[in-house]
Amino acid sequence: MAKRLDILVPFLNERESVAGFSALAGDLAAQVRERFDLDTRFIFIDDGSTDEGGALYGEHMAGNWSLITLARNFGKETAILAGLDHSEGDYVLLMDADLQHTVDVALDMIGRIIADPDLDMVYAVRSDRAESRTLGRYLANGFYWLINMGQRYEIPANAGDFRVMTGRFATALRQLRDQRRFNKGLYAWTGFKQERILYKPAERQGGESKWSRRRLIAFSLEGFTSFSVVPLRMVSLFGTGVAVLGFLYGIKILLEVLFTGVAVPGYPSLIVAVLVLGGLNLALTGLVGEYVWSALSEAKNRPNYIVKSITGSDAAPRAKPGKTRKAAHG
Ligand code: UDP
Ligand code: MG
Repeated sequence: MAKRLDILVPFLNERESVAGFSALAGDLAAQVRERFDLDTRFIFIDDGSTDEGGALYGEHMAGNWSLITLARNFGKETAILAGLDHSEGDYVLLMDADLQHTVDVALDMIGRIIADPDLDMVYAVRSDRAESRTLGRYLANGFYWLINMGQRYEIPANAGDFRVMTGRFATALRQLRDQRRFNKGLYAWTGFKQERILYKPAERQGGESKWSRRRLIAFSLEGFTSFSVVPLRMVSLFGTGVAVLGFLYGIKILLEVLFTGVAVPGYPSLIVAVLVLGGLNLALTGLVGEYVWSALSEAKNRPNYIVKSITGSDAAPRAKPGKTRKAAHG
C-alpha cells in the first residue's frame, strides 16, 4: 500500500480562496502521486469562520478530504493541533488556505524529507523577511534572541507554519497539549532534526491577513510564558541591582551626615526613586501575572478545542484519543 501524505489546512474566513485552493489541491495531489507515489488526504480545519466558506469546499474539492469544524475561533496554532489529532499520514504537510503557500515549495520540501530518512521536518522560511531591515524585523530578532537565551534547543527566527513532517514528528506534537500554543517553540522542543529552505510567499488571494500588530504582541508574550523564564530573571536581577545601589547610597548619606554634617538635599531624588521603583514594581507584577495566567490556563485542564462537526469525502475519520494526558511523557 502506498504511503500517505496528510495536508492540514487551517482557515478562518477564507471564502474567497476556496475555489483557488481546491484547484491547487488537485494539482498538488496529482504531482505528489506522480513524483513520490504518495496518497493524499486534505484535512481542512474551520477555525470558527463566520463567512460560511467551509461549506464551499464540498462543492469544489475532489479526491480524499475531510473538514473539521471547530465550535469557535481557537487560533491557528490550536486549529493545527485539531488537524494533527485527526491525521494518520506517514507525512503531514501544513499549508495556509490563502494560496500564499505554493505547490512548488511544497513539492521541494516533500522531496527533501523523503530523500533523507534522518530528517523529521522541513520548513520554509520567507526569504523576504530574512533580509528586510524594518523596525518590526529588529523587534522580531530581539524577541528570538531573548527567547533563545540559555535554552537547550533553538527556536529559529522567521519560520512560519509552512512545513512538512514525518508521522513520528506528528505523534510527538500530538502529545504536547499546551493550552497556549506557541508552535514554533513546540517544533524546536521535540528535538527532531529539521531543515530549512528559503521561499518567497505568493500574494494573498482575496480576504485579509489575520495577524494584527496587537495579535503579534500577544502571541510573543505567549511564546515567552510557555518557553522562557529569562524575562522574569532579568527583572529580578535588575531589581536586586537597584536595591544594592539604594543601600550603598543610603550608607553614603549616613556617613556624610555623621562626618560632615551636610543635610540630604531635597525632593527630586526622592521622587525619582519612588517613581522608578513603583513603575518597576507594577511592571514586574504584570509580568508575573502573565506567567500565573499561563499556569492557570494549563491547570484548568480543559480540552484544547471543541469540534462541532466532521464532514468530508468519506465517512468521518475517527478522532485520536489525544485529549487524554496519559499519552504525554514529560
Ligand atoms: N488562520 C486560522 N485561524 C486564525 C487565524 C488565521 O486558521 O485564528 C488561518 C488563515 O485562514 C490562513 C492561515 O491561518 O489560512 C494564515 O493566516 P494569515 O494568512 O492571516 O497569516 P499571514 O499569511 O498573513 O502570516
Ligand atoms: Mg496568509
